[in-house]
Amino acid sequence: MELSCRLEEKFRIDVNQKRALRRLKLFTVHDLLFHFPVRYSDVSTVKRIEELVPGEMATIYGKVSKLKTKKAWRSKTPMAEGIIEDLSGKIKIIWYNQAYLAKMLHEGESVKLTGRVTGGKSGTYLANPEFERMPNMPIDSHVSIFANGKISTGLSFPVYPETRGITSKWFYHAIEKILRDKTLYKISDYIPEEILKKYSLPSLKTALIWIHKPKNPKNAEAARKRFAFEEVFCIQLERQHDKHEYRKNKSFKIKINKKGVDEFLKRFPFEATSAQKKSIQTILEDMSHDFPMSRLLEGDVGSGKTAVAATAANEVVKKNLQVAYMAPTEILATQHFYSFIQYFFHTGIQVGLITGSGCKKFPSKVNPKDATPISRSQLLKWVAEGQIPILIGTHALIQKTVKFKNLAFVVIDEQHRFGTAQRRKLVRKDNVAPHLLSMTATPIPRTLALTIYGDLDLSLLDEMPPGRKEIITEIITPNNRGGTYERVRDEIKVGRQVFVICPRIYEADPEKELALNVKSAVEEAKRLKKEIFPEYDTGVLHSKMSKEKKEGVMNDFAKGKINILCATSVVEVGVNVPNATVIIIEGAERFGLAQLHQLRGRVLRSTHQAYCYIFAEAKSGKTVERLKALKTAKNGFELAELDLALRGAGELSGAKQWGLSDIGMEAIKNLKMVEAARIEAVRLIAEDPELFKYPLLKSRVRERAGEFHFE
Ligand code: ADP
Ligand code: MG
Repeated sequence: MELSCRLEEKFRIDVNQKRALRRLKLFTVHDLLFHFPVRYSDVSTVKRIEELVPGEMATIYGKVSKLKTKKAWRSKTPMAEGIIEDLSGKIKIIWYNQAYLAKMLHEGESVKLTGRVTGGKSGTYLANPEFERMPNMPIDSHVSIFANGKISTGLSFPVYPETRGITSKWFYHAIEKILRDKTLYKISDYIPEEILKKYSLPSLKTALIWIHKPKNPKNAEAARKRFAFEEVFCIQLERQHDKHEYRKNKSFKIKINKKGVDEFLKRFPFEATSAQKKSIQTILEDMSHDFPMSRLLEGDVGSGKTAVAATAANEVVKKNLQVAYMAPTEILATQHFYSFIQYFFHTGIQVGLITGSGCKKFPSKVNPKDATPISRSQLLKWVAEGQIPILIGTHALIQKTVKFKNLAFVVIDEQHRFGTAQRRKLVRKDNVAPHLLSMTATPIPRTLALTIYGDLDLSLLDEMPPGRKEIITEIITPNNRGGTYERVRDEIKVGRQVFVICPRIYEADPEKELALNVKSAVEEAKRLKKEIFPEYDTGVLHSKMSKEKKEGVMNDFAKGKINILCATSVVEVGVNVPNATVIIIEGAERFGLAQLHQLRGRVLRSTHQAYCYIFAEAKSGKTVERLKALKTAKNGFELAELDLALRGAGELSGAKQWGLSDIGMEAIKNLKMVEAARIEAVRLIAEDPELFKYPLLKSRVRERAGEFHFE
């Protein structure tokens, strides 16, 4: 068997399996080998039915009976139920939304079930268990499983991520076949041996065997460690190479003019914090080098990143060079456009706005105090001629058609990563590239920042402007809803406005998914109007709405026409409505702490006292304890670290968008490992930027990063 063999040549695959494999992007033997188990059916969770305790995940062996389908009486959710029995007792099984399962299993069939033991009103049951048929298992087999009270370890199977059409078992057998073949001898390790030795990591061959067929938990752990290291190492190599590439360009050297900076800062109606001053100084220092800056400015919502960017922009503008400011949404781009008009009004310069739905320019010829809509072609012409020194926009800003005369400084607000390809577009023919400043309020743990932002130098705004009132944060359990609504009513009465954040847009469709008791923005707006606040107006904002509708609602909210805005987490990214001082977050247990913190930042824009009510469905226990950290933590970064510690890397909000696999995220919990990967990557790229000496490693890195460029 060759690694490059297509799977259908080596395995019998039916149509559904083929489709499933394609969905998982598994085409070759090689792909399959690198499709890792998500976990191992952990023998320690195998239980006798009499031992089951509500709240825990458990695996039980037994016979099923009394299978039937029905609909839940209130939500009309289709469900299947049945009974599983072993020698110690029996327990009910419920599969919500998977009524077909009752038809797939047969009366008296022997199965292995893994699911959560749940205590309901009508007794304890096993909820939505995964099942595996155990046709050859006699009913008393668990006696042998539990012989001498010990669990036989032969039962530890790798569990692969499944998708419709293909089972974990299929993967197990297919991979087993590959491992039995001599295929593995043809695989060579791409990680330099000295690095493996230095960190006691298993070779690729060993790691592949151990990850699929561990003899013991230690093997599995060592294998996962290797692949976790490898992933972070490859990302680091790519980022370090990126950095190296970008630094090869020349930059617009901008000399620091301390006096000019001070004068600009004086115009703000506030005194800059020392964190802001320090960041400005670092940025200006970067800009005085003869290679371009690549810096990330991290700071909580409200820490004043815009003022930092504007001050740096002013130095650029003074040299008759241009600035591009990129915001993630049109709403934000428009808000920044108006802020910049204010900041730069005294200088008399022109400011442009470019978004997908139109362009504007300040000042208007007719009214020098206001902006005016202009055509895209007109705006582009003026930008190309250099008459518009500051252009603000969404990512329409870096499209090919937008040509600058002298683009020297690019600010990227809340964009998670600005990849190689995007950067390349910014490099001019004469190899002069603009200075880059990325800004983010997304609190992530340090290990993750070191990895995904490995190409950037970091600056932290870890100090909030003084005089801000702290947001009063309360964790509200279900029985305190009523009283909370009354306190909210008092705020609306004196003219304040309210955000209500819901986990979903629409109510769950019970035919398709299991989502009981999860509030949706659309329904909650109706409910609040009907049952709680009939005297006030509610509105809805979510990502499925058209741009026009969204803007309409935001405008109405900004103007105070809407008292209560029900939204999904789309309002997460900075929308500025200073009169909104209350935020209610529904289904808080569904969000990470760092994300909750960011949501809460929406009501931080005002001089009025702000309130955040975190509605938890749980009444007590761990969830509420976790949420209480929102009252004690100093900033978002601390909360991100807590999320990592309490919930694990996989639960970090937006884990997928960082481009890390589940295994890569495991490394994020391990500062030592991330630092090691970084040190090795920095060293390798410094010695051999194009990795000429490591062709295998180079192609592995390239494989991982779609847009990766090595010369
Ligand atoms: P973010 O870091 O979230 O982008 P902004 O730049 O939007 O924060 O600033 C939030 C608010 O705080 C703005 O209204 C801004 O004018 C104000 N602000 C910024 N810096 C200071 C400061 N040093 N003192 C007081 N207010 C400030
Ligand atoms: Mg901002």
